[in-house]
Amino acid sequence: MAKKEEQAEPQPLPSPRLLPWHSAAIGQLRQAWTANRLPHAILVQGAEGLGTESFAAWLAAAVLCEKSVDGALEVCGACASCALIKAGSHPDLYWVAPEADKTQLSVDQVRAACEELSKTSFRQGYKVAIIEPAHQMTPGAANSVLKTLEEPSKGSLLVLLTSRPSGLLPTVRSRCQKLTITRPSTADAMAWLQQESGKAVSPALLEFSGGAPLKALAYADGAFDALNQHMQKSLRDLLSGDADVTQVAAEWEKDALIDRLIWLDLWLSALARTGIAGSDDRVTFPGGPAHLPSPSRPLNISALYSMVDRTRALKAQLARTALQRELAVESWLIALLEVLAPGKAPVARAS
Ligand SMILES: [Zn+2]
Repeated sequence: MAKKEEQAEPQPLPSPRLLPWHSAAIGQLRQAWTANRLPHAILVQGAEGLGTESFAAWLAAAVLCEKSVDGALEVCGACASCALIKAGSHPDLYWVAPEADKTQLSVDQVRAACEELSKTSFRQGYKVAIIEPAHQMTPGAANSVLKTLEEPSKGSLLVLLTSRPSGLLPTVRSRCQKLTITRPSTADAMAWLQQESGKAVSPALLEFSGGAPLKALAYADGAFDALNQHMQKSLRDLLSGDADVTQVAAEWEKDALIDRLIWLDLWLSALARTGIAGSDDRVTFPGGPAHLPSPSRPLNISALYSMVDRTRALKAQLARTALQRELAVESWLIALLEVLAPGKAPVARAS
């Protein structure tokens, strides 16, 4: 595939793979294909951890597969086109992702893919471009896409992938057919996780993963337990005075900060619910009462819920902007201490 030519070490592309919770979306696409009504542009929206990349890879492979031409949309795995996909060298597929060390998709990258879509197919079939994550396009890149959406070429398919549709221009969104990948039910997700990992998985892990099975699977091999233990230790050390906010913020910032904030969101929510229920020591997320640090009692429920809001706001901010992460986490930790151990919190550092 002609992808990211300037990049020194291209990342391997996602392999086409359908997962059980993709079936509704695939059903819609197959119907459109059979009716000869496949749109020129599809916006695939779905949370991280739902395999939207492998879904898009399947869609591209199926549209290009020789078997699909006169029949149902499928990936036969045996034709010349499928062989090229497997080898990662299909000339009619363009996969645009951020270059190494960058988060945004540049105008040059996106424009090049859009130009390719307007040319004739090398293999007398479709031309497909996949842009992910589409909400990370620079304004210039988004304008290139807009032009392509306004004047689509025959036999071209543009697939935009996003976990944050609100991060796209409304004019881009409105010109694409939307295809939403939804989370499976908890029961289906748990069954799938058990099958894939070969063992029973804690429901707390799926909750932590926001119901996204692939994320839960990635954490199932002991990584979730390690995160749990580390978070509990950090909080215990902080409350007992064995660690200060600067140390803890630096440690969290180094590794899996967003996932730590998700953990904290669930932990604080569980703590607040516990306070309301009046069962002082019973926090069910994630490790049980024995592992939890013991904040001062009684708990200030409304302050705990404010911390939940603050945690979510910080997470959203970190995803959107280049904050001074360590400093932002430090002031969050100071606020947490004020809630959990009033009177012990240090004064905020001037930022
Ligand atoms: Zn094929």
